[in-house]
Amino acid sequence: MQYKCRKPALSGFRFSIVEINGALSAVWLVQAIPRGPKCQSCGMPMSTDEDGGGTEMDGVTRSIEYCSRCYKDGVFREPELTVDEMIEKTQQRLRSMGMPEPVIEKNLMAIYSLERWKD
Ligand SMILES: [Zn+2]
Repeated sequence: MQYKCRKPALSGFRFSIVEINGALSAVWLVQAIPRGPKCQSCGMPMSTDEDGGGTEMDGVTRSIEYCSRCYKDGVFREPELTVDEMIEKTQQRLRSMGMPEPVIEKNLMAIYSLERWKD
């Protein structure tokens, strides 16, 4: 069951009510997966990239496709990386952020459809 928050500051944010150790809690659904463009290599939302995106060959222009973790000066930081290795890395990162497993799973599945891994 999903609900929409009525508080103006949080309007449009959706949450589920779940039972955790016998107590009801709200679990925010949107917070875990921000909208907007995602890095086409790792799937991280570009809006959460502190550097505002990877850099193109000139070292200044920001990439609109790839984040700063994946892409620098027009090339991938780890050109040999496979999609499976990316999934493993991302899983570890999301777990360390405390993201719930079902949300992690969803994020990992989405990696397969990113531009870098399409063939
Ligand atoms: Zn990335």
